Amino acid sequence: MMGPSHALSGAAVWLSGSWALQQFYDYEQSPLALAVGTAVCAGGALLPDLDLSGKVTRNQGGATVARTFGVFSLFVAEVVEKISLGVYYATKLSRDPKRNNGHRTLTHTIPFTVLVGWGTTTLCATYGKWAVIGILFFMIGLALRGLFDKWAERAGWLIVTLISAGAAVFTAANLPGDRGYPMIGLAVGVGSFVHIIGDMITRAGVPILWPIPIKRRMWTPISLPDKIALRAGGRVEVVFVRTALTIVSVLAALGLVAPSVLQRFNLDL
Ligand SMILES: [Zn+2]
Repeated sequence: MMGPSHALSGAAVWLSGSWALQQFYDYEQSPLALAVGTAVCAGGALLPDLDLSGKVTRNQGGATVARTFGVFSLFVAEVVEKISLGVYYATKLSRDPKRNNGHRTLTHTIPFTVLVGWGTTTLCATYGKWAVIGILFFMIGLALRGLFDKWAERAGWLIVTLISAGAAVFTAANLPGDRGYPMIGLAVGVGSFVHIIGDMITRAGVPILWPIPIKRRMWTPISLPDKIALRAGGRVEVVFVRTALTIVSVLAALGLVAPSVLQRFNLDL
């Protein structure tokens, strides 16, 4: 799956999940909380590909996500890729093949999604507003890059960086800590998980069972059989899947916002 589809799927899952919570469990969220959760989940759905580095010195290559903050995030991607490769070799069993690149290993596992989700919440709870600003800045930047890829490319990484910083500061000043901080962590974790599932249905093998050893392999790649899997970047993904995800997101957002708007105008349906 390509960057924009990943980001869209994160947004769609968060919005429809929030809609379901409101509809069936009366769990209401403020418009700000909804917007932040959606952006962070969209950003989180790009996070695992931060293991796809490019050429830092030449400012080239890398996944969508690795280019969000220019050379800086390319460098981060390089580090993440190397750490992932290190963990691969540290835990590989005799039938796991040799690799010279850490892409689609550690950051595409369930323990990773749990770790980033828990880590985010812990950072926010421990360090408060400053951690929230830093994390939101990063996640909103990823979301902008993913959701509005054409625009982000034209605007350049500096504009994306400035907008993310502004949105992060505004949110940190207005988001209540009690429910808001755990929600940020949950959105990061859910987003990363949605990414892994997205890779699985586009034929890209993902070691989702790690660290469960199977037949002397720790990093067994799991994917849909070729016959039913989508081709990453193919027409079906770019046209059909993205349209469907957009429709789901818009409908869920309308469903979430409509009741309070109707109430404000005293329209009861
Ligand atoms: Zn991926």
